[in-house]
Amino acid sequence: MTQQTLYRDVLLDHYRHPRNRGDLSDCDVVRRGSNPRCGDDIEVGLRWSGSLLEACRFHGRGCSVCVASASMMTEVVQERDREALAQLVQAVMDWVQGNEHALPDPALEALEAVRNHSARQKCLLLCWQALRDALDA
Ligand code: ZN
Repeated sequence: MTQQTLYRDVLLDHYRHPRNRGDLSDCDVVRRGSNPRCGDDIEVGLRWSGSLLEACRFHGRGCSVCVASASMMTEVVQERDREALAQLVQAVMDWVQGNEHALPDPALEALEAVRNHSARQKCLLLCWQALRDALDA
């Protein structure tokens, strides 16, 4: 089994069984992102406990890359503070757009399988852009 196959299996698992997908009604801030060309339309919700992110969930529909990226994002952001989250978002964007080669977080390794496909970058980054908007709120 190649590394690419392993990554794709991880992504597919997140797509089929998304983590933290659900109701956003108890979130402090919700931001939406859409990618009409692909049909991706998601909302990302954050709940804060003081300066720490207590919960991050998402809602909506999207292609496999969009949903897998959102699912992985909700797992990796928990218990971080605003500054660390802003740094993570920037690191992911730099990594996906090819400005930076260091993986932003080991938990995001499987995204390596799609980050170099320019057609899928918007799908991959949609949830991260919504997170950035939510952090600025
Ligand atoms: Zn998409």
